[in-house]
Amino acid sequence: MKKVYLETFGCQMNVSDSERISTTLAKDGFEMTADETVADVVIFNTCSVREKAEHKLFTRVGHVRHSGRKPVVGIMGCVAQLEGETLFKKIQGVDFVLGTRAVGRVSAAVDASLSGNGKIVDVGERDDDYDWTVADTHRHSPYVAFVPIIEGCNKFCTYCIVPFSRGREISFSAKNIVSQVADLRLKGVREVHLIGQNVNSYKPESDEGLERLEGKSAFTKLLRATAATGIDRIKFTTSFPRDFRSDIVDAIEDHENLCNWVHLPVQSGSDRVLRGMKRGHTIDKYFKIIDRLRSSPRDISITTDIIVGFPGETEEDFRDTVELVEYCGYDMAYIFKYSPRPGTPAFEMEDDVSPAEKTIRFLELERVQRRVQNERLKRYLGKTVKVLVEGSSARNDSLTGHSTCHKVVNFVGNKEMLGEIVEVEVNEVKSNSLFGVLKQ
Ligand code: SF4
Repeated sequence: MKKVYLETFGCQMNVSDSERISTTLAKDGFEMTADETVADVVIFNTCSVREKAEHKLFTRVGHVRHSGRKPVVGIMGCVAQLEGETLFKKIQGVDFVLGTRAVGRVSAAVDASLSGNGKIVDVGERDDDYDWTVADTHRHSPYVAFVPIIEGCNKFCTYCIVPFSRGREISFSAKNIVSQVADLRLKGVREVHLIGQNVNSYKPESDEGLERLEGKSAFTKLLRATAATGIDRIKFTTSFPRDFRSDIVDAIEDHENLCNWVHLPVQSGSDRVLRGMKRGHTIDKYFKIIDRLRSSPRDISITTDIIVGFPGETEEDFRDTVELVEYCGYDMAYIFKYSPRPGTPAFEMEDDVSPAEKTIRFLELERVQRRVQNERLKRYLGKTVKVLVEGSSARNDSLTGHSTCHKVVNFVGNKEMLGEIVEVEVNEVKSNSLFGVLKQ
């Protein structure tokens, strides 16, 4: 039996694709291995959102090629979709290139490569019968499942390559999503993440499965419908500010199993920069959402993404971003320095903030965020949080899991608790995780 090693870069959508890729390969007679050194086939499921991820890919393929072995090497995902056959020229030793919409055809590509059928490239459209159902084997966790509800993006933010690598938005059937969640619950899954580039832009062709549900948008209705399955916890990511309606918060308040965490990328605190990015929302609109989230008795944790040094960003624009971070009090912010991505509209703009200035702004914003975050996180001290136990240490009796607000929580306990939801009283707060003691 030929062994396949699969490595994933990037977002939850890629992780979810990888789960289906592994399941398909295993069904078709391949053995998935976590050990790259024994693999006959090495596949990289790639991300092209940031330059760094692409560089990492080049390094990793070089590493495999110089290891003295000669496995078949395949590139899948966003880089494959965008680059197509040019990847053969850019990276030596690649045997097949399969785009984001060709994941269903992975076994055929692997077979053909193993038979020595030359270089294979497939960046064609998805098969009509492609099965988006959550993989029933090879999931990243037995207790947590990623459920895609929408694929692609229609927003075309000027710096972003995703609409080109993932294509236009397609919303999946609500009836199918709800029945998948109900089925996962019966199989012992405790937490589902409804995932997509912009989950709250969800707009299925029919409202089958959402009839008579409260909500101004299909997404809010879908939240209520999945909550009604009785699964323990539902998280959703990523949300897009322009489409974020306040009734999403109403739904979170009505259903205990809709978790108190919202990831809401803002990207900049300046309206001028947001216009350049074509984000389609203003800071005023964003603050209104933040105020609604903050007013909720559910103590909703808010996280975000921010880019510094976008073309034309002045010192004043940057100050607006610093002020925004102070105002919003994020539990966590992913801050990036702008890097132009070929093929995006912003690539044509003058990248006029110098690398040194980008670094200065990045470090200052990171410092401010860390201070604000440390202050915010203190509210957990002495509080009891519910934790889904997802992992244990091999060396001692440490357990780890996520709270409903999506914080990593570490505590001491028994490995038999894996998969259970337990109560932990928080007694120490660090920037990226909480520590506490198990409540008996
Ligand atoms: S909303 Fe904007 S940043 Fe997000 S995936 Fe779409 S184009 Fe990219």
